[in-house]
Amino acid sequence: MRLILMGPPGAGKGTQASFISERFKIPAISTGDIFRANVSKGTDLGVKAKRYMDAGEYVPDEVTNLMVRDRIDEPDAESGFLLDGYPRTLAQVEELDGMIKFTGHQLDAVVVLTVDQEEIVARLLQRAELEGRADDTEDVIRRRQEIYAEQTEPLIDVYRDRGILIEVDGMGDVAEVTERVFEALEDVPES
Ligand code: AMP
Repeated sequence: MRLILMGPPGAGKGTQASFISERFKIPAISTGDIFRANVSKGTDLGVKAKRYMDAGEYVPDEVTNLMVRDRIDEPDAESGFLLDGYPRTLAQVEELDGMIKFTGHQLDAVVVLTVDQEEIVARLLQRAELEGRADDTEDVIRRRQEIYAEQTEPLIDVYRDRGILIEVDGMGDVAEVTERVFEALEDVPES
């Protein structure tokens, strides 16, 4: 399976990604996690990404695309993967199309978690407190949402037009949402 998990920041993508990954035995690839790991290690990539992340802005496409290309090339992603937090721009959609086409495969489904905006802010502020995430001040959270609406929401129509979009209600218990996601994915034929 080659899947994308989408949704606004705080929709619970990371949590659901790990369940999907387990169920379908595919690696969950989170660009946010890879960036954060690089920031902690102080790599060149981390240094480049940090100022964008701290401001709630997107890391430039060239940087992000290269990183995903490298990750998808790893042996564990050969038979499938779940992308969490990528693509986020139309340019990234094109880039990903190229990467997948090159391997002779195709995208099977794009799952979008739909959630209530106010609930999201509350969740993110709670998470910021629990995890001490430096990129989660209220201003930054609002900025991330704006950018999501401007740059990432348009991707939903792109995938809907391709007939591979699955919208899942992301509100409620984690387990309930997981159940809905699994149910929706049951009908997806594996390419
Ligand atoms: P996330 O944990 O997915 O919310 O990602 C944290 C931060 O990493 C984002 O706010 C961006 O600064 C950066 N980031 C993650 N994925 C991408 C992406 N696909 N394109 C650009 N920036 C990204």
